[in-house]
Amino acid sequence: MREKNLAGRCGHYCGSCIIYRAYQDSDELREEIAKRNKCDPEDVRCDGCQNVLDGGWDGDDQWGKNCDMIHCLESRDIMYCYECKDYRRCQRFSKWYITNLEKGEDLIENLRRIKIGEIEDWLKEEKERWTCDSCTKPISISLEKCHWCGEKII
Ligand SMILES: [Zn+2]
Repeated sequence: MREKNLAGRCGHYCGSCIIYRAYQDSDELREEIAKRNKCDPEDVRCDGCQNVLDGGWDGDDQWGKNCDMIHCLESRDIMYCYECKDYRRCQRFSKWYITNLEKGEDLIENLRRIKIGEIEDWLKEEKERWTCDSCTKPISISLEKCHWCGEKII
């Protein structure tokens, strides 16, 4: 099931990730991100965390195969951050956790739900949550406005 690709290994919902959204939806967004990261727009690509090792970007930027978290998870041979006994004390995770919490996404709660087998329900809820109220297309947690219709994201 394709949607499962959207379960971020750190508990982030890939469907709301700006790299994922840019790659799937918008050349304009890709160019914007590329400019900010001084890379080629072609390099802004992702099919979701679960697929990243097959076809993900592996350049110098922090997404795709080169994501710090993925490197860490791979070195420990685990799929999700919750499988690591140190994750609640992990600085990398904590920083990312706080960034997301400020935007209303609780990675620890997300990981808890993945752990107890509620991944399908969780993904469904996230999908609904990160959908534009106005045009009903998918939106990004990192943007203030819908990249489709320009509606403000609350
Ligand atoms: Zn919209």
